[in-house]
Amino acid sequence: MGSQRTFSPEIVMRGLFQFSSPRSPPAPQGAMWQMEEDDGFILVPRPGREQVEDPEQVPQYLPDIDDIIHGLEPSLWPLNTFIHYNPELGYKEHKAHDALTKFMESQAGWVVTRSAFGMETAWLAVYDSGRPGPTVSFNAEMGQNHPDALPGLGHACGHNLIAVASLAAGLASAKILRRHRLGGKVTIVGTPAEEGGGGKIKCLDAGAYRDVDVSIISHPGILNNSPMVRTTAFTHLNVAYHGRAAHAARSPWRGINALDAMVVAYNAISVLRQQTRPDDIIGLQITNGGNKPNVIHEHAGGVAVLRATSASRLRELQYRVEACFRAGAEATGATVDIEVVPGYLDHVPNSVLAAAFTKYWKALPGVPDPPLPLPGQFTWVKASTDQGNLSYALPSMNVSFAIPPGVNGGQPHSPDFEKASSTRGAFDRAMRVGKAMAGTAVDICATPGLLDQVREQWKRDMARQDGAPAV
Ligand SMILES: [Zn+2]
Ligand SMILES: [Zn+2]
Repeated sequence: MGSQRTFSPEIVMRGLFQFSSPRSPPAPQGAMWQMEEDDGFILVPRPGREQVEDPEQVPQYLPDIDDIIHGLEPSLWPLNTFIHYNPELGYKEHKAHDALTKFMESQAGWVVTRSAFGMETAWLAVYDSGRPGPTVSFNAEMGQNHPDALPGLGHACGHNLIAVASLAAGLASAKILRRHRLGGKVTIVGTPAEEGGGGKIKCLDAGAYRDVDVSIISHPGILNNSPMVRTTAFTHLNVAYHGRAAHAARSPWRGINALDAMVVAYNAISVLRQQTRPDDIIGLQITNGGNKPNVIHEHAGGVAVLRATSASRLRELQYRVEACFRAGAEATGATVDIEVVPGYLDHVPNSVLAAAFTKYWKALPGVPDPPLPLPGQFTWVKASTDQGNLSYALPSMNVSFAIPPGVNGGQPHSPDFEKASSTRGAFDRAMRVGKAMAGTAVDICATPGLLDQVREQWKRDMARQDGAPAV
């Protein structure tokens, strides 16, 4: 379908778009179900929808994408609801895995691998156009957040919406490639355990993105609509001090107090906090405070969780915090073991991908608040995702989208957000995101030179990040 002038009648009758023409001025704002005739079609605006005033602004493939995803909604809505009401923990997303792979196996042209990449609940679905071109990959999350956060909380991070948004985008992209004889491949990766389990890192290590040019995902919240999301990098340090036990009254001088070492380090880090950057976060816990008060403590230990705006900044922060831990050992004579548990890298957004997403998002009727960031601006989300690790391996887009909030305006990981992410309104937003993500993928395949621009931007961004991961 070459231009918006050849819209299929079904699309026009659904009234998502209305075109003005010299013969017929645009309908006044708020006109309800007003009909107008244009090029032989009866145009019926959907009530309450914003109308596209300039048909030239409608991206070429958007009407098709919109139509395809509208057709998928009756099967994606029950899938969304099934995942939401069957929450499963990281790496145990068996019901979601089975439901999603079964659905993908029913889609013509897709090759599905269950239990992919050495994980029972990871999966891969591939559509190959048979013609050379870019490979665009969508990640589908499935797991709920860990019950440590709040027992029995269920799908309070909205990962059901992430799954169906990516399915919608992947399926629509593939259909457009087929319909318009475009070259390229589309893959959908079922990625387990985003909530601290690092499923995408395991997928990455197992080669899931080896031949992939761009990775795309989304995440719901209530604050932002943005394709330019930066997240924090984080890492854990497990610290163990080893001293020498002694009787605290009879011969304390014979001992080496491991708890003292931990306390010195705790205080040193508290002092360090005065000179960290505003976005540096150091969380500290003493997990082993010794044995009994009448002994010199042989063992003590703690955990530090460090967050920073970038992997390179995290590296600097980690260096200084480790120095504080060593200072505790130096001051007391204890020995120290510092175990670094890799967390997630920050997500580095790609402005070329964001521009494509923005074009589609704005061309869809009824643009919701809040508005997308202006070109060149990014949205800072103080949370971490394993999509960050992918953004250091290949160009990535991690779209943040706002769903209608619950009655208490709860953020992700709250009971309020759990309810909010189950609603039809939230699903509709996820479908809108799916359409703009599909548009981005199709543009990459259909626009000569666009993938090169994406790669060049990624190389510039990586150079600014100062290279290699910190953890
Ligand atoms: Zn979460
Ligand atoms: Zn999440």
